[in-house]
Amino acid sequence: MTQILTIGKYFKNKFGEKVYKVPISISGFTCPNIDGTVAKGGCTFCENESFSPNLTDKSKFKLNLYSKENPYLEKQLLQLEFQFNATKERLENKFGAKKFIVYFQSFTNTYAPLDTLKALYEKALSFENVLGLSIGTRTDSITDETLDYLEELSNHSLPKYLINGKMKSNTYEIWIEYGIQSIFDTTLEKINRGHNFENIKEWINKTKKRNLLVCGHLIFGLPDETQEMMLQTVTESIKLNIDSIKFHPLYVTKNTLLAIDYSKDNFKPISEHLYIDTLVKSIQLLPQQVSISRVTAGINNDSLIDPSWCLDKHQQMKKIKSALLKENLFY
Ligand code: SF4
Repeated sequence: MTQILTIGKYFKNKFGEKVYKVPISISGFTCPNIDGTVAKGGCTFCENESFSPNLTDKSKFKLNLYSKENPYLEKQLLQLEFQFNATKERLENKFGAKKFIVYFQSFTNTYAPLDTLKALYEKALSFENVLGLSIGTRTDSITDETLDYLEELSNHSLPKYLINGKMKSNTYEIWIEYGIQSIFDTTLEKINRGHNFENIKEWINKTKKRNLLVCGHLIFGLPDETQEMMLQTVTESIKLNIDSIKFHPLYVTKNTLLAIDYSKDNFKPISEHLYIDTLVKSIQLLPQQVSISRVTAGINNDSLIDPSWCLDKHQQMKKIKSALLKENLFY
């Protein structure tokens, strides 16, 4: 039986205890695929303010890479502190959590001038018991300057800690989470991604050259993709030397471009059987050192249109674990 390297196990091996990610959503951030810089409407599966104006804060102010000023910075820093403390307290009370990674999750979290990013990241790293950052973004929305700065941050030492009776030292964990989704430009066009695979390769290479940690997000069930194509995406992503991977099924939610395609019979979601089979085959392709940050996703509310198997993540996990066990893989 082979034990799969989950991101949880990666952190436990490195820091001797469970590390909890604290998701953060900062107002004023958007995405070049929504604000019209590269496209409008966003990725076809993304529920954003193009469709749901109430999703975002009421302010019209939005940052981008070239914003000259940020009148929201003070508010953003307070938001960060408030969200971090609220989630940290909940995790401490529920699980006895002691160590944290601040996860800038919503929208494109490097799509702002470097001064703003520095202020937010350094504030996040100043919170007690924070080991590092995880920054969700797109490969077309990060700059060399930002990567240089993140590389510098990643060299800062954390306070020494005890693991298995020995004092250890480490530096900040700085993760960049990039949406890869597919290596096929035809697919990236169909989902209105706004960039191609060449761009993904270029910026993941630049990130890895700076020794930063990369988590690649992949989606199975993208329009017209066969299992062979999905597995090719996994193989090519591994070649980019990524450190971790997130797998996600494509499901249709209300208020998205994909919902329109679906209503016109132009899109058929992936079956649960094909998803799990592709996932198991993908995990078998992963080198030992690549951790798995997520094996599926679900959405348990009435915004889900199809497929209904994505409603119950608990059931999905049971089936995934049992399919992996059949291959002698323990999750
Ligand atoms: S990159 Fe992310 S935030 Fe931007 S449109 Fe696509 S899914 Fe939405």
